Amino acid sequence: MSKQQLQQAVQEQPGYSTWLPFCQLLPKVELHAHLNGCVRASTIRELVHSQQLSSLSEADIERITSTGHRSLADCFVLFDAVHQLTTKHDTITRITREVIEDFAAEQTTYLELRTTPKDRPEHGISKRSYMAAVLAGIQQARQAQPAAGMLVKLLLSIDRRNDAAAAMDTVALAIKLMPAGVVGVDLSGNPSVGSWATWLPALQHARQAGLKVTLHAAEVANYEETHAMLDFAPERLCHMCVLDEALQQRLWASNIPVELCLTSNVKTNSVPGYVDHHFKQFYAAGHPVVLCTDDSGVFGTTLSQEYAIAAASFGLEQQQLIELAARAVEYCFCSEQEKQKLRQQVLDFREAWQQQQQQQQQNVAPT
Ligand SMILES: [Zn+2]
Repeated sequence: MSKQQLQQAVQEQPGYSTWLPFCQLLPKVELHAHLNGCVRASTIRELVHSQQLSSLSEADIERITSTGHRSLADCFVLFDAVHQLTTKHDTITRITREVIEDFAAEQTTYLELRTTPKDRPEHGISKRSYMAAVLAGIQQARQAQPAAGMLVKLLLSIDRRNDAAAAMDTVALAIKLMPAGVVGVDLSGNPSVGSWATWLPALQHARQAGLKVTLHAAEVANYEETHAMLDFAPERLCHMCVLDEALQQRLWASNIPVELCLTSNVKTNSVPGYVDHHFKQFYAAGHPVVLCTDDSGVFGTTLSQEYAIAAASFGLEQQQLIELAARAVEYCFCSEQEKQKLRQQVLDFREAWQQQQQQQQQNVAPT
């Protein structure tokens, strides 16, 4: 099979489907999921109909909520629709609960959900009331299966459109909400907007207060900014798609874990295709990486699917997938005690898997 054929198979045919059942059972941690990007298609459909968004036609709704192929343009329409639909506290609570339930349903043992607190005075929403609605959703999700046993933490995102004061305000809110489960701060948004110096004081303040930091970085070629981000040495980085040789070397020397979102990068054309994704290079170099979804709803994927796509694209064995899941635990922003519980879940899975392998070998062995 040629490289092009394999790429097509992985992208268009469910070539990864062989790996999917195993990946669905694997205990996984999700470290890069934006709340608004993970909304259920059925919820979007229901909200569009009840709120009658005039900007969307029936054909638009059908296309952006279908399970089939979704173009990049469709992804942006979907993002915009979610923004227009989340104008009530109840809706924010509901989507938070549903996102948590969906991750829990596919053996996600730990979820770091990130969101940008928004002031939307026209809808009676402040950054603080927005976060109260998100926390209510987490509380609701905890009360019943499937999410009852899952750990959920929050990262507050600074949008690159924010000025220094808005970034500082988000960090102040994050610090205030640390007892409620906020463990870190993220920098995200249009990678072509804003400058690093604007948000640096807020990020330094977050760090001094004990929050961890992850940065969307190198989504586009901006080598100077990426160097400045490496100088800051965040606890994690996201994407790292566009690096020159010097940055590559610096990154590898830094050992900073990178959140890699295969489908997101392919759909937004940050990389040409799955088999060309820099996961391959990073993994081969032994650099710490963690597979994540970014926006499971917008990009029509799941965490299990991302593991399965990685297996199909890069020829990973089940043992290597278990290793990936085990190592990802080490990059979580939760406490050591909480990590211990997550480690044990992977260990238990590995043990059951090994027993099953031995059983199968015994069954095929000649008597
Ligand atoms: Zn992201």
